[in-house]
Amino acid sequence: MGGGISSTADRHQFASDNYAGACPEAWQAMAEANRGHAPAYGDDDWTTRASGLLRDLFEVDCEVFFVFNGTAANALALASLCQSYHGIICHELAHVETDECGAPEFFSNGTKLLLAHGEAGRVNPDAIHQLVTKRSDIHYPKPRVLSLTQATEVGTVYSVAQLEALQEMAQRHGLRIHMDGARFSNAVAAAGVTPKELTWKVGVDVLCFGGTKIGMAFGEAIVFFNRELAHEFAYRCKQAGQLASKMRFLAAQWVGILESGAWLRNAEQANRCALLLESRLREIPGLEILWDCEANAVFVMIPEEIRDRLRAKGWRFYTFIGGGARLMCSWDTTEADVEAIVQDIKELMNQR
Ligand SMILES: *Cc1c(COP(=O)(O)O)cnc(C)c1O
Repeated sequence: MGGGISSTADRHQFASDNYAGACPEAWQAMAEANRGHAPAYGDDDWTTRASGLLRDLFEVDCEVFFVFNGTAANALALASLCQSYHGIICHELAHVETDECGAPEFFSNGTKLLLAHGEAGRVNPDAIHQLVTKRSDIHYPKPRVLSLTQATEVGTVYSVAQLEALQEMAQRHGLRIHMDGARFSNAVAAAGVTPKELTWKVGVDVLCFGGTKIGMAFGEAIVFFNRELAHEFAYRCKQAGQLASKMRFLAAQWVGILESGAWLRNAEQANRCALLLESRLREIPGLEILWDCEANAVFVMIPEEIRDRLRAKGWRFYTFIGGGARLMCSWDTTEADVEAIVQDIKELMNQR
């Protein structure tokens, strides 16, 4: 037994961007926040600074809350957008549907998720129209929210034009817009536009802005552009066990990644590695790329026996979406890591 540390522990992997550690900017800020005492529950200077930096980033006077993880951020944000008899429209592959153990329904006291189809992980505006108009009677949960994931679960990104079309449809049907931005930084880096252009400018009422996957140890920010919807939101956080008493450690990490620009640099690095990985894999006969790589994930159909042998070599990756291997790049993935896995895949494919 190796004391729990696998022989591949020092090797980078492609399972998820939350396998990576914290980036130096976030870690350093936490160390600074650790000096001395500070008021608890968000009444500290770090929390004030982090909120201010997020307002600067989005160029608007938004309401900001900090929670530990993305499931809570999504569930609590969604609960604040609807009543228990409402429906939330999301893509059938949405994290809120597939990976949150019913938390959105639980925290909203029974709201129903209504699943929409759409190519490449994006909700199709027509699917929204169908879901809203197929019933108008009292026996069907009234659609009230549109939840979008940016970047999507399959590594694609909604463009500004696509978001505008969705905004138009949402407005037509009186839907509020929630954005699951667990990988929002990757989407900003990919789209090459400012954060406001992907959010409040296209009608997003609330964004769950992911910190964990972009280089924090933990922590997500809930950003209300529609400030009225944030009414009494702090109580939701507290009741859900998401009000950090030592809030400064959550907030300081945001200060660290925002002031240094690491939030975007980290995203650019991850995206760059994913694009490189995609182009290398496209050169290997017998593999199929499932969706165009637009952010930091590459989905590739690899023959099953090759997948097993890759895992035996120590590589880690998931196959839970679409049957292919999901190869996820993180802030600390390097070009050398990409070349290493490509080399192993190539060799295994040649041996077939
Ligand atoms: C990772 C992720 C989340 C957050 O998950 P937690 O494990 O609860 O932090 C939310 N949405 C998407 C799309 C994700 O990939």
